[in-house]
Amino acid sequence: MIEPLPTSAEQDSPRALVQVLVIEDEDPIRRLIRDTLEGEGFGVQTARSAEDALTMLAQTDPSVILLDLRLPGMDGFAFLEAYRARRDGAGLPPVIIVSALRPRETLPEGVVDYLRKPFDLDDLIARVERSVISE
Ligand code: CA
Repeated sequence: MIEPLPTSAEQDSPRALVQVLVIEDEDPIRRLIRDTLEGEGFGVQTARSAEDALTMLAQTDPSVILLDLRLPGMDGFAFLEAYRARRDGAGLPPVIIVSALRPRETLPEGVVDYLRKPFDLDDLIARVERSVISE
């Protein structure tokens, strides 16, 4: 029997139920984000490239994706296109862009938030939490 999902992530859902996929090629930043979110009790998976992330996403279904835009090989925008195409637009987890690039006037489809590097860790935590609650 499958237990129903909690209605309020804030009150009922342990953060461990929230799985964050961090796509970031820079080792120090990826580790910092991972350690910070794990320290806050979130579940965290990491990928060093968009290609690795797409492979992982064939088997995992994260609650939210933190996406760097400048990546070796496929960049963040190409990742978004490839992922949307693969899933046919259905059931995509929210994406938060974490990048030094300036935001466009309109965020790409599926992107719920944008965090500009260098970012504040408390701000990161708050945005992750908000993205999951608003789901
Ligand atoms: Ca990068």
